[in-house]
Amino acid sequence: DLFSSLPLPAEQLANLEQLGYATMTPIQAASLPVMLSGGDLIAKAQTGSGKTAAFGLGLLARLNPRYFGTQALVLCPTRELADQVAKEIRRLARFADNIKVLTLCGGSPIGPQRASLEHGAQVLVGTPGRIIDHLDRGTLKLDALKTLVLDEADRMVDMGFYDEMVRINDACPRPRQTLLFSATYPDTIRKQSARFLKNPAEVSV
Ligand code: AMP
Repeated sequence: DLFSSLPLPAEQLANLEQLGYATMTPIQAASLPVMLSGGDLIAKAQTGSGKTAAFGLGLLARLNPRYFGTQALVLCPTRELADQVAKEIRRLARFADNIKVLTLCGGSPIGPQRASLEHGAQVLVGTPGRIIDHLDRGTLKLDALKTLVLDEADRMVDMGFYDEMVRINDACPRPRQTLLFSATYPDTIRKQSARFLKNPAEVSV
């Protein structure tokens, strides 16, 4: 299961080699073909499985680096996870010159976040409360969004973010790609699956 078997740009394959990523982890091998063909996905995967690089490579493959509007949004349950995810996506984004990854979490002042948003960032990684805050203030526009990722969706539900997840999901344009990663498949989401995902492929490792 080599990354080179995937339809990724040569620049990205070279970047992965530099990062020391040669073979795909099982979640990457199962989910990347689906993501690269544009389909929605629900993936059961634990931390340590390589799930971040899986959705990171998927969302980066769909980006237009020459356009600075928000094209991908990753929702995370905590600031710590958002920081880790942003760090990993920045490494994966080195294959192109102009990809900006911005974290939007509570606990950081909103002014600098607003300024960074005005400057433009293709990839946003944030926690639900702060994303809602920016939507309500009109400082975040999602009309050019291509990919929405719900990372650790079960933890977000456990932490009481379900209503925020729904609001953010409903604020995203269609068509778009939605990727849901979770260690378990929570009932609340299973029942409302059609609201988040369109004919999703299900992968589990
Ligand atoms: P995650 O499950 O996303 O938290 O990733 C766990 C760790 O695996 C991170 O430190 C990644 O940098 C690393 N990693 C992800 N994919 C690969 C890969 N294909 N080969 C080697 N390391 C990887």
